Amino acid sequence: MKHLNCALYGHKLVITKHVTNHVKEYKCKNCSQQATTSSNGKIILLNDKRKEINQTLERIHQIRKSKKVSLSS
Ligand SMILES: [Zn+2]
Repeated sequence: MKHLNCALYGHKLVITKHVTNHVKEYKCKNCSQQATTSSNGKIILLNDKRKEINQTLERIHQIRKSKKVSLSS
């Protein structure tokens, strides 16, 4: 029934992770389907390939963030 809800009304996505300022990961509250922001800003389903890309993005983002912090302090 929960999956039927998603098919009828769309997924109830909640943010699970901030990968970068623009890219986030989501999870559906009903069926646990995972999604992410694509490079053109659309929400797409999360697969293994995308997860890998996000992990790389996150790493780069963390490095940039820490560099920014050390510069300003
Ligand atoms: Zn769903």
